[in-house]
Amino acid sequence: MSVRKVLTFGDKFLREKAKDVHKVSRKIQDLVTDLLDTMYAQNGVGLAAPQIGEGYRVFVIDVSVGEEPLNPIVFINPKIIKKSGATISREGCLSFPQAFTDVRRYSDVMVKAMDRKGRSFVLEAHDGTLLARAIQHEYDHLDGILFVDHAINRFEAEEELTKNNLPALEIDKMLDEPELEEKINDLLESADTEEEIEDAK
Ligand code: ZN
Repeated sequence: MSVRKVLTFGDKFLREKAKDVHKVSRKIQDLVTDLLDTMYAQNGVGLAAPQIGEGYRVFVIDVSVGEEPLNPIVFINPKIIKKSGATISREGCLSFPQAFTDVRRYSDVMVKAMDRKGRSFVLEAHDGTLLARAIQHEYDHLDGILFVDHAINRFEAEEELTKNNLPALEIDKMLDEPELEEKINDLLESADTEEEIEDAK
């Protein structure tokens, strides 16, 4: 099929909520192919339909990151049915060229979805692996949520956007995540303590 144009941050479509797929039709299968072609062309780890201007609840992930064999996973109408733990995730996004920042994520997720043939599957990803984090990142795109909305350090995120000629953070979209925040503060504190112990030696 074809490599499609990826919308960049500032495009209002990225903030829209995508709609459920009612039937895994030829059109949806073509959309999946375009998502994969576009993701691989851009060396991405994941891509969601809204990023190419298609408002359907579909995303693709491949965490093999350029290694053979490719291992694409297609998610249609995904639902995150369990999430727990917390992790700090350094993320970028094909809709935010060159910009990276640390964001809050769950470390473990269980997701239910359909594959490109319309077959239902359940997938678990644990320990803050790239897959666990990518699922949350791509899932968010279906609800118009972007990775910077989860930024741990708002100032660092803002600097990254400015440096890469992207629009300013949308402060009103930033998420309040007290539970995750608390767990991540604990992680950061224990990291500091380890450093202090190391320094004291
Ligand atoms: Zn993204």
